[in-house]
Amino acid sequence: MSNQLDLYQQVILEHNRKPKNFHCMDEASHQAEGYNPLCGDHLWVYLKVDNDEKIVDISFSGSGCAISKASASMMTSSLKGKHLSEAKALFTQFQQLLKGELDPEKDSHDLGKLKIFSSIWQYPSRIKCAGLAWHAMNGALEQSKESITTE
Ligand code: ZN
Repeated sequence: MSNQLDLYQQVILEHNRKPKNFHCMDEASHQAEGYNPLCGDHLWVYLKVDNDEKIVDISFSGSGCAISKASASMMTSSLKGKHLSEAKALFTQFQQLLKGELDPEKDSHDLGKLKIFSSIWQYPSRIKCAGLAWHAMNGALEQSKESITTE
């Protein structure tokens, strides 16, 4: 367990220091704002989806704690090049992972590296940080014009 936690912390720190796809996107086809008032995390997620419903590009901007930024960074890496149906499936699996409803060692999933968030359900206040970018991404795909909050 402590090894798992060490790995988790290392990955979070690394992504926080050098976030992937961390920039605005002028030509986005979908975008949404995510805000987590409990922590102050405030992110924007941008997607470029082509006519075949494939995510050809995805990025994020804004500011937040290490967990929210690392989660956004890993989400963009995971979703780039995926079909929208795969993105929705991953969104569902990631929510289940955060709630402790999906055990990445026992249940089948396509989370890949995202499974390092599996221990986060033990820290309820952090679940919203880790889920923020995903909720914004999901909101963007649903063309939500309003900002997405975790409340
Ligand atoms: Zn946070």
